[in-house]
Amino acid sequence: MNRQNWAGNTPYCATHYHAPETIPQLQAIVRAAHKVRVVGSRHSFNNISDCPEVILSLANLDHTVTIDHERRTATVNAGITYRQLAPHLHQAGFALHNMASLDHITVIGACMTATHGSGDTLGNLATAVSGLEMVTADGDLVALSREKDGEQFFGAVVALGALGVVTKVTLDLQPTFAIQQDIYEKLPLAQIDEHFDAIMSAGYSVSFFPSWQHDWIDTVWVKQQIVNGQTPTVPNPFFGAPLAPAERPTEHSSDRHLTPIGVPGPWYERLPHFYLKDPLLQGNELQSEYFVPRRHAVAAMQTVARFRAQLAPILQISEIRTVAADQLWLSPAYGQEIVGIHFNWHRNWPAVEQFLPILEEQLAPFEVRPHWAKLFAMSPAQVQPQYERLADFRALMRQYDPRGKFCNAFLAHYIGEA
Ligand SMILES: Cc1cc2nc3c(=O)[nH]c(=O)nc-3n(C[C@H](O)[C@H](O)[C@H](O)COP(=O)(O)OP(=O)(O)OC[C@H]3O[C@@H](n4cnc5c(N)ncnc54)[C@H](O)[C@@H]3O)c2cc1C
Repeated sequence: MNRQNWAGNTPYCATHYHAPETIPQLQAIVRAAHKVRVVGSRHSFNNISDCPEVILSLANLDHTVTIDHERRTATVNAGITYRQLAPHLHQAGFALHNMASLDHITVIGACMTATHGSGDTLGNLATAVSGLEMVTADGDLVALSREKDGEQFFGAVVALGALGVVTKVTLDLQPTFAIQQDIYEKLPLAQIDEHFDAIMSAGYSVSFFPSWQHDWIDTVWVKQQIVNGQTPTVPNPFFGAPLAPAERPTEHSSDRHLTPIGVPGPWYERLPHFYLKDPLLQGNELQSEYFVPRRHAVAAMQTVARFRAQLAPILQISEIRTVAADQLWLSPAYGQEIVGIHFNWHRNWPAVEQFLPILEEQLAPFEVRPHWAKLFAMSPAQVQPQYERLADFRALMRQYDPRGKFCNAFLAHYIGEA
């Protein structure tokens, strides 16, 4: 097993690495260990997955996908990746509601950290979870469901790996659908100030990419659902931005391709922006992302735009996305719709590390909260007040893991000991 995260900026310090092939093997490892964490596809940028003793991977567990056509759900090995899962769902006539910017993260790794795509009406990926099965600290197998466990369930879905090893996940499905994505270039920044809501609601999923170096947004991606086989209307220009040619050069490197532009295709080949040929290849970037309640989005972006000079040498690109409100306790969208302001940094951690507290201080008035899986400098005293169900979550930790077997340095710091 690879002993560092995908970006290579966080080595893991575990002494033992296991990839069990059966649930009983997994239960025995958990029972015997003093400290355990699980890794998915290792795409988190901080030490959220690390552990001083045992790190587990679910990659060798059975990847059977069980679809319940009547209930419109799929039950899967939690360690399956979206890339492995999505074509099965499509062939069976189903879809997930949304995807992240790339598809080779695992379903449970994504849900545990409230990973999201964009869409005014679309909750983060964890909102599709209606059931899960996990091995708790004493090695027992516990099943939780939205239907039967109510409030507790909402605490267990975005749980940062703190409650146990999730082995199975049940996901809500919808009928499969097609999407067409179109890209616009150089949308004037002033249009965002005045028409943010209209721009973000112009498609099923809309996101835009500012480098903050101009008075325009570099690109806007509008993903429209194909309804009744009708090709969607593609306005040109769009809020003053012309349509980009459909044939665009591939992004960043020969390993990283944009998903097809200007032609309809299945949801799982259009909702992610990127397709990585070799997901095992180390990434050449670092990432941070800050969420603000939607009502603060425009002011927060105006604040970021004022950092043009400081951002120039360290930022590859930003991305702005919307996420619908949910009920998941540790989701940054708990109880309110949010906007994500994402930063793809060059791999220059000393410079990024120096800049983050400066940026965070300016974003603080906007009730900012960081993406759990990305790089940030905010202190626990700044993060914790943003999560009104934190005390309830700590109670869940005490219930499922009273001796802190799944608690690592990240959790102890940001959530606090159970
Ligand atoms: C190139 C790139 C693009 C990205 N795009 C997006 C994006 O579009 N939107 C977004 O929101 N984020 C994005 N991210 C962040 C990414 O979605 C998160 O880091 C996500 O958590 C990664 O999932 P993973 O499978 O790699 O899990 P890991 O990073 O390996 O683990 C994440 C967490 O899940 C826990 N976990 C894993 N498996 C289990 C299990 N079986 N049981 C219990 N806990 C478990 C881990 O302990 C850890 O706490 C991106 C990251 C990269 C590198």
